[in-house]
Amino acid sequence: MKIGPVPDHRSREGGALVYPVYSRRSRGLSVGINLFPDRKRCSFDCPYCEVFPFETDIVFSAAVMKAALASCLREAAENGETIRDICFSGNGEPALSPDFPEALRTAGALRDEFAAEAKLVLITNGTGLLDDSGFSFLSAAAKRGLEIWLKLDAGTEAWYGEMNRSGIPFGRLAGAFRAFAASGTPFTLQTMLCRINGALPPPEEEAAWLELAAALASGKSGLRSVHIYGKARPAPEDPLAEAAPREALDRRAALLNNILKNAGTAARAEVFY
Ligand code: SF4
Repeated sequence: MKIGPVPDHRSREGGALVYPVYSRRSRGLSVGINLFPDRKRCSFDCPYCEVFPFETDIVFSAAVMKAALASCLREAAENGETIRDICFSGNGEPALSPDFPEALRTAGALRDEFAAEAKLVLITNGTGLLDDSGFSFLSAAAKRGLEIWLKLDAGTEAWYGEMNRSGIPFGRLAGAFRAFAASGTPFTLQTMLCRINGALPPPEEEAAWLELAAALASGKSGLRSVHIYGKARPAPEDPLAEAAPREALDRRAALLNNILKNAGTAARAEVFY
């Protein structure tokens, strides 16, 4: 029997700790790890967020996660299926969970045993970089092979306010991102480009995002890639956030790639509609 990917990640909201999905950005089968089976926990409140309101009594258990992940990876290996990655995302910001370090170690060990080709990925909004211990932990984990996909939806406080609705000042977060990039740690930027209340990011936002993304790619930065992706799944606040035209994503990637190329930087932007 083949692993059945979960459509639209909905089993996460039923408390699943491990959920296989077909991922656009992974280009294949991705096994998600959900550290928040009881309710959403996040330091952002993005209007395009796909997590629908839910509540369960399920408590995260490292042992249950380990058993579920081992079973999923073993089944995939027996069926000759290729797992592209094991991805920490789930119902919120994974780096907020005290269980994240142990879960990451467990996932790494099981990956080595059953799916050596799979990458370990953390999809993060980057707020874990704001304290020294989080910064050091993520930097060390990335240098050991964890792929960090860092959310950068905005270049200005105003658009950040529309896209991420966080109490954390944008300048503080951007400063942590600059320090992370300057540390030479490998990472990928990920940017959701969509309409909010019918409006695309204004020209000054586009210019500021390009400037910041270029700064994060400069010097001895470990920037590997930039994912520019569109809204493709339903969200509980629809239609507050809506998909942008493909041309808007293409334009953003082309503008950044031109800057990166002229700067002699190897990293490139890719578009995921
Ligand atoms: S950072 Fe991710 S989980 Fe958090 S609100 Fe935004 S989209 Fe949702």
